[in-house]
Amino acid sequence: MTFLPLSAPGETPLRVMTIAGSDSGGGAGIQADLRTFAMLGVHGCVSVAAVTVQNSLGVKGFHEIPLDVITGQIRVVATDIGIQAAKTGMLASSAIIEAVAETWRELQSGAGAAPLVVDPVCASMHGDPLLHPSALDTLRTELFPLATLVTPNLDEVRLITGIDVVDAVTQRDAVQALHALGPTWALVKGGHLRSSSHSPDLLYDGTDFYEFDAERIDTSHDHGAGDTLAAATACALAHGYSVPDAVAFAKGWVTECLREAYPLGHGHGPVSALFRLRSRGV
Ligand code: PLP
Repeated sequence: MTFLPLSAPGETPLRVMTIAGSDSGGGAGIQADLRTFAMLGVHGCVSVAAVTVQNSLGVKGFHEIPLDVITGQIRVVATDIGIQAAKTGMLASSAIIEAVAETWRELQSGAGAAPLVVDPVCASMHGDPLLHPSALDTLRTELFPLATLVTPNLDEVRLITGIDVVDAVTQRDAVQALHALGPTWALVKGGHLRSSSHSPDLLYDGTDFYEFDAERIDTSHDHGAGDTLAAATACALAHGYSVPDAVAFAKGWVTECLREAYPLGHGHGPVSALFRLRSRGV
């Protein structure tokens, strides 16, 4: 695959921020985001919103970071280091979503605003909750309207829109319902449409539909796939890619990361961005 351009030695790379949860097992969340940022040559900045107690078997619990610490991380980085794109992941509660949205509006309104990818993380692949159910409405009304792109998986689509995506028709209904909530673009990932040997994702901007039909990699080690797709999209947007081009790039990236996924612990292993080291000849 073709990678993103790298900065010259000594030159400041583009900066991308992840506002998300820590995964102690290192497979998903902030750890996956930073791995993708680094492997794509972007300088990763972080606002830790929650710390999960997690291994390959599931999420045993989590701790929410105080609101002023979450918003403070965003503010001090944005006003000093500067960011060319950001993504959100696990935000845990309605209060955190509200605080992040308010800070983003304050820092990034108007012309020159950085693109924001909202990955509306609701639960782990094991079904462990990562977002309080009462926070769904805040997600829809506060964060979605600020998003350049939202990237829910099919379970998240069901929770957010009430639509059960089972085929191409319901996938189209769902992407339109998501777009009606205010993001500039909506993506419905088809990764778990099990009937398909391919994994078609559908992107919509209120006018045009774009379908991305990458090869479906059959592995149980897909922990962190959603985070990795959103992180790679944010990196491409930081480089000035259009949203369809950024999603196409990220889809290629996550497909390679899935191909290189590895077992870890006694449960589900993570997708691996580390293949990039091999392709660099290291
Ligand atoms: N833990 C954290 C901190 C996450 O952000 C996420 C997903 O975004 C997960 C766990 C769940 O990842 P998966 O659905 O791949 O298990």
